[in-house]
Amino acid sequence: MFWKSTKTKEASMTCPHCNVVRIEIDRFGERLIGCVVCNLWTWPTSPSVSMALPEDDLEALRKRVGN
Ligand SMILES: [Zn+2]
Repeated sequence: MFWKSTKTKEASMTCPHCNVVRIEIDRFGERLIGCVVCNLWTWPTSPSVSMALPEDDLEALRKRVGN
């Protein structure tokens, strides 16, 4: 997926689409890293797999991070 093109650790912490720093969240005890702007989330252990969060979750998250 998208993150495959990012090679350095530093680059992988920034969203390749909007350049916003990706954040780490805890969702039902599962660690996810992703971008609240693009709604693209990935697992620290499987960075090549990504998913989108349901709109409700995303909204709550945006409120929490102040976006
Ligand atoms: Zn983004």
